[in-house]
Amino acid sequence: MIIKNISILSFQNQSIQKNMDLTIVEGRISKISTSGVVSSSVSDIANEKIIDGTGKYIIPGLINAHAHTAMTLLRGVAEDVSVDDWFNKYVWIYEQGLVPDDVYTGTLIGAAEMLLSGVTAVADHYFAMDRAFDAYVKSGMRANLSWAVFGTGPDSEKQFETAMDFTKKHIGKNSRISISLAPHSPYICPEDFLIRVAAESDKLKLPMHIHVSETEDQVVQSLKKTGMTPVQVLDRTGVLRKGTILAHAYWATDDDLKLIKKRGAGIAHCAKTYMKFGDVNDLLPRALKAGVKVAYGSDGLASNNTVNIFETARDAALLAKCSTRNSETGKISDILPLLNSGEVIGLKDYGEIKEGALADLVLIDPSTPNMMPGYNIFADILYSLNNRNIHSVIVDGELVVENGKLLTIDVEELKNEAVEISKRLVATVSDKPMQSY
Ligand SMILES: [Zn+2]
Repeated sequence: MIIKNISILSFQNQSIQKNMDLTIVEGRISKISTSGVVSSSVSDIANEKIIDGTGKYIIPGLINAHAHTAMTLLRGVAEDVSVDDWFNKYVWIYEQGLVPDDVYTGTLIGAAEMLLSGVTAVADHYFAMDRAFDAYVKSGMRANLSWAVFGTGPDSEKQFETAMDFTKKHIGKNSRISISLAPHSPYICPEDFLIRVAAESDKLKLPMHIHVSETEDQVVQSLKKTGMTPVQVLDRTGVLRKGTILAHAYWATDDDLKLIKKRGAGIAHCAKTYMKFGDVNDLLPRALKAGVKVAYGSDGLASNNTVNIFETARDAALLAKCSTRNSETGKISDILPLLNSGEVIGLKDYGEIKEGALADLVLIDPSTPNMMPGYNIFADILYSLNNRNIHSVIVDGELVVENGKLLTIDVEELKNEAVEISKRLVATVSDKPMQSY
């Protein structure tokens, strides 16, 4: 595939290289040259797919570092309620009605939404991940999958076995899909369980993906119970390490951040979720100051309502400004590079458009009114872009969105299935709140 006459954007140094040609061979960018110079790495030019990039920009694909993708099926079920009610009266009750086939459909909906909004890779933490795996294979997306385990309760051992069974069966099964281990969180998983998962992680050489310090109360309770912050609990149990995705760490202390940096774990920052719960904190500016690796996450759609990561980045910029009451924080130059933080979810050769990098790419067409007149493309991308501007998306060298149309999934068919599932979920929901977590 050759993309001709395009402008390459770098979020890292806010630069633009105009009139360039990109050649893609076997899933990687093989050559970048000034437009018009035919790449010598392509032997059979007549059979190459040529994309005209005139007037467009190209960026690396976006990363969603923490999602519960199948929760597309719970979009809009719990609004304007407290965190407790959100979990206990709505989300956990609706979730009980989901069957593995729903996870397939829900994941497919999320994958479609992500690809159409420029997200090319996701770290998905949920249940029935064998069906999520099937959905991601069909979608053409890149994914890191982890089967969430609670580590407590009567089904705990069975859950753990199911998750490990999924893990062992799916390691290396598809080159676009990697696997992580997912103890839910230190507030649900006892320490001996966390130690056990960390040992499995060593044995299988797999990373981990876990929720931590989501709310201030979790930190207070952990200090009361153990004398340690939840991040310190993860460190003591061996979970805090290079490669671990920390979902949220929103109430991490400055000392926690130093520890996270020292161990080399990364944070998935889900700004929209925090803002929807009215929870204001300056985690992002503090984490960046501490040198911690950060990517954006959507979290589940019952809180975020979308898996659109451009929107999450926008929210992260606004949250950084509001939480510090300082318009000079959350700068475009700090916010945009985190869109491509592939390292947080274990991707190598990712996040910059250069020869040898993975060919996971997004073409942006700025020719719509919302991006005119175009003084500052970086500001326009962060604050003005919408899905209409996502022209084409390439994952692993394959075109998955072309001219705004998804090539891998039939969206119309999905819509009917989603409506049927939502009707069934509403009909089966009980009005009895579950036991409080
Ligand atoms: Zn989550």
